[in-house]
Amino acid sequence: MARQYQHAPATKVPEIRKGDTVVVLAGKDAGKRGTVERVIRRTAAPSAARSTYRRGATGSGTSVVVDGLNISKRHTKPRPMATQGTQAPQMQPGGILDVAQPLDISKVMLVCPKCDRPTRIKHAALENGRRIRVCSHCGSPLEVKS
Ligand SMILES: [Zn+2]
Repeated sequence: MARQYQHAPATKVPEIRKGDTVVVLAGKDAGKRGTVERVIRRTAAPSAARSTYRRGATGSGTSVVVDGLNISKRHTKPRPMATQGTQAPQMQPGGILDVAQPLDISKVMLVCPKCDRPTRIKHAALENGRRIRVCSHCGSPLEVKS
């Protein structure tokens, strides 16, 4: 039976959104949970053409920054911050900064807040046509409180 559509473009309802709880599947933080701080979408802009040479590293191209996970320590020296005008230059304190690095979206899985299990996402449409995400285990809607 033929599919109704050909290779649907990026879905209108993102799999993972800011504020979601996710569990990390791979890497040094595998098994840990955290809250999505940021979703980074890399769209295929013409200027990104040369990035095709380094494919493979980042599956779908979308990645997420999870609060407190995939931390890399960045050692910095104190240095003056860029200030303008007559303000006294402020010093940026040195030390070790914890910087959350983006994780590829394929390396995290959404955790359903209802059944507390890592879940895949099903999509459903409400009567008013609005599309929502639904937990594939318990069927509860996974709306993000905005
Ligand atoms: Zn669930």
